[in-house]
Amino acid sequence: MMNVLDAQDVLKTYFGYDQFRSGQTELIEMALNQENALGIMPTGGGKSICYQIPGLLLDGTAIIISPLISLMKDQVDSLEQIGIHATYINSTLSKEDYMNRMHLIREGVFNFVYVAPERFMSEHFLSLMKQIDVSFLAFDEAHCISQWGHDFRPSYRSIIPVLNELDHIPFKLGLTATATPEVIQDIQSLLTIDHNHVINTGFKRDNLHFHLVKGQDKDRFILDFIEKHKQESGIIYAPTRKLVDSVHGLLLQKGYKAAHYHAGLSEDIRRREQSKFINDEKTIMVATNAFGMGIDKSNVRFVIHHSLPMNIEAYYQEAGRAGRDGEPSDCILLFSGQDTQLQKFLIEQSGLSDEKKVQEYKKLQAMVNYCHTENCLSAYMLDYFNDPNRYGECGHCTNCTHTDEKIDRTQDAQMILSCVMRMDQKFGAGLTAKVLKGSKDQKVKQFRFDHLSTYGLMRNKTEKEITQFIHFLVAEGYLTTGDSKFPTLQLTAKAAAVLKGERAVYMRQVTIQEADASDYDTKLFEALRTLRKSIAQDENVPPYVIFSDATLKDMSRL
Ligand code: ADP
Ligand code: MG
Ligand code: ZN
Repeated sequence: MMNVLDAQDVLKTYFGYDQFRSGQTELIEMALNQENALGIMPTGGGKSICYQIPGLLLDGTAIIISPLISLMKDQVDSLEQIGIHATYINSTLSKEDYMNRMHLIREGVFNFVYVAPERFMSEHFLSLMKQIDVSFLAFDEAHCISQWGHDFRPSYRSIIPVLNELDHIPFKLGLTATATPEVIQDIQSLLTIDHNHVINTGFKRDNLHFHLVKGQDKDRFILDFIEKHKQESGIIYAPTRKLVDSVHGLLLQKGYKAAHYHAGLSEDIRRREQSKFINDEKTIMVATNAFGMGIDKSNVRFVIHHSLPMNIEAYYQEAGRAGRDGEPSDCILLFSGQDTQLQKFLIEQSGLSDEKKVQEYKKLQAMVNYCHTENCLSAYMLDYFNDPNRYGECGHCTNCTHTDEKIDRTQDAQMILSCVMRMDQKFGAGLTAKVLKGSKDQKVKQFRFDHLSTYGLMRNKTEKEITQFIHFLVAEGYLTTGDSKFPTLQLTAKAAAVLKGERAVYMRQVTIQEADASDYDTKLFEALRTLRKSIAQDENVPPYVIFSDATLKDMSRL
């Protein structure tokens, strides 16, 4: 009978480590007892060893199912380097190579076989599974199996029903670094893992410093930041291909060594750009969220998000690509109020069922709330994940540290908030700004807003300034654009306090120049507006209901 002492031996002789890390012993013990188990550990926490050591100690071949095709080769290579026989099966293999490997698997040559979910599901592979001695199945990146996860892979989920046919396989392990309570629940029920077999060491990563930057020109911020961190490697995430190209172009133009990556580039270019980044030939990677899953680069010193991510899971995972080596690293989110609209738009056009959309809206709301919280940012996310081991404030995020100089904008805020109230909280930022500016716009007259006491109250400011300040109020949580997909401004409890004079509104001194016309948000919304106009002349029609499929396609190219 194998025991933990054997495991300790293997840890030392094969991997060269003296001690197990938190959670590893428990998981390995369960595996050696052939019990189903789920391990939740932060990125870099050492999940691989939790299946590699049992795989070495138990008879038969361990099958590791992983959606990360790009990592398989590296993982197999590093096992082979320490004298462990392993192979992988995925779509990158030639027919000949594939047949050859399948043959060797049948011969029982390998201790470990890494396989992509869709390959696992092939008839050929499944029938092989029934013929050989399998020690266990490990589901790496197990959150991808849950439709509540942010990175759901239907092909991964489709494995579950066929597990019935594979009931000779003694047990299953699940491993993941990002899972909300619902996702954990889901994985447990899909893989039949009971409560006592879930080992959750938490998600906390002390070396990550989270920052939130609001109301600043994003391109300027990035240029300034990169200038100060010239020697360091970092990733900049942007929400659209077009924006990736534009930020990438900007960096090249300023002479920085930047790579780029998105689904619109050929596979060849993507591979080249990725390897230049990994090998530090290029220090900065500008990418959409297509980049990063399965990238194992330890010295990433910063991750900047150019815009609001779709939810906390996605953000924590993307930001978490910084500092895998444990060194202090910065995770910066550049937020402006308009960002929310893009994410709502993406949810609307996602083709999800209404029920799923409601879920996504809720998750988006939690992401927006992250941008409004005045408490520790790191603690906010750990709370979201229901982290069992979170204690207190991190001491180094924006909210734990900021002492910036602030300016009092309470009066401006009161004007805007009371105008929103007088417009019955039924309109968006554009029309509200027009009313405050005292515009003679057709719609202002039509709704008789020129009779409101707030009409023209901010006449001395430009419409753009007013709109920007409204977006600031949204970003700060004085206004929301509602739960619905229509961006109508609504007052929050915080706004009520401001209107009653019980609360002041401060804006942090913006040391970096205000947004100019090259600002992405402005451009995006101009494009949205133009498109909308080209379809319906009526500005009253909320934008989301009138886009045709063809238009949606145009927009996804923005
Ligand atoms: P992840 O949880 O992200 O899958 P990995 O399994 O890739 O993490 O492990 C991250 C790093 O930690 C690897 O370099 C691994 O060798 C190392 N590691 C794992 N377990 C231990 C340990 N007990 N002691 C020291 N280093 C370890
Ligand atoms: Mg891993
Ligand atoms: Zn903090």
